Amino acid sequence: QKQIKLAKRPVGTPVMEDFAFIDAPIETPSDGEVLIRTIYVSVDPYLRGRMQDTKSYIPPFQLNEVITSGIIGQVVESKSEHFSKGDIVLGTLGWQEYSVANERTIRKLDPKLAPVTANLGIIGMTGLTAYFGLLDIGQPKEGETVVVSGAAGAVGSAVGQIAKIKGARVVGIAGTEEKCEYLLNELGFDAAINYKKEDVSSALEKACPNGIDIYFDNVGGSISDAVFPLLNKFARIPVCGAISAYNSVEMDMGPRVQTALIKTSALMKGFTLGDYSSRLQEGNTALAAWLNEGKLKYEETITEGFDHIIDAFLDLFTGANIGKSLVKVADI
Ligand code: NDP
Repeated sequence: QKQIKLAKRPVGTPVMEDFAFIDAPIETPSDGEVLIRTIYVSVDPYLRGRMQDTKSYIPPFQLNEVITSGIIGQVVESKSEHFSKGDIVLGTLGWQEYSVANERTIRKLDPKLAPVTANLGIIGMTGLTAYFGLLDIGQPKEGETVVVSGAAGAVGSAVGQIAKIKGARVVGIAGTEEKCEYLLNELGFDAAINYKKEDVSSALEKACPNGIDIYFDNVGGSISDAVFPLLNKFARIPVCGAISAYNSVEMDMGPRVQTALIKTSALMKGFTLGDYSSRLQEGNTALAAWLNEGKLKYEETITEGFDHIIDAFLDLFTGANIGKSLVKVADI
């Protein structure tokens, strides 16, 4: 079977040579374990952080270690009484065609409740990140203005829609015209700004005549710089991601935002989904209900083929994806 390992720690934007495609034997499950055939692989920006040897909320990948991420697979052999051959399961598994997993580390999915891939996106990791970051830290109120960066991505598109459900006015910032049209026409955003074409500061001033109450930050950098001067008194800023800096060799640590925070008594708070590990069921239930009521929509960019996992990962940094980015490795 094929596996993908981290061959070198990327410097700047990762390149193909940072990864090694290996041919390895398929493991055999022991008692309490199952053998899983990989079907869908989630590619996510946070994996870039795990490729660096730095202290974080999640340990770095070791060199020559199989890369792991959220994976949906099908049980092909079971030595567990909780799983049967044919079950569709979700877990953090390796970038390889087959994985052996302990029964306690995987969860069975019910394809009747929602399309299985939704468990990696809108009702899974990225939807839950949007749900808790926006509702717990952002606390949107009816009529408030919410700005979200990375707006057409997996997290951002969920943030904007949840903010609309809560009665807020929503402005999205994204990198193409197609994405902006998607935000306006499909997801019901009130305004959308193409940061690659427009002057973000003046576009934000126009789109936010009453200032900004919540800034859900997925990207950091100059887009965030443009948002801060428009914050209202007691604004809230859930800091979810900083993808614009993930490939930076030298981090820009300048005091860019303090004055804006002091002037407005704003709250800026970083978080990870791990902070909400005891409340995941609550979030999943709420998201699934909105999805079934038609209040939440989602898009997926599905790349085909194991050999294209790295391409799909690198595409996150050029913005080739709309919504959740996945790689389909095999048929169910
Ligand atoms: P996305 O689906 O949003 O994909 C990444 C998107 O980022 C791209 O499509 C691209 O869209 C945008 N982007 C890439 N480079 C830049 C740049 N230099 N400046 C601005 N935008 C850029 O990924 P996710 O929804 O999975 O993740 C979004 C953010 O949330 C990431 O920063 C991620 O690390 C973070 N995250 C945090 C979690 C947490 O627990 N705190 C959990 C999950 C995600 P465009 O065309 O608009 O540029």
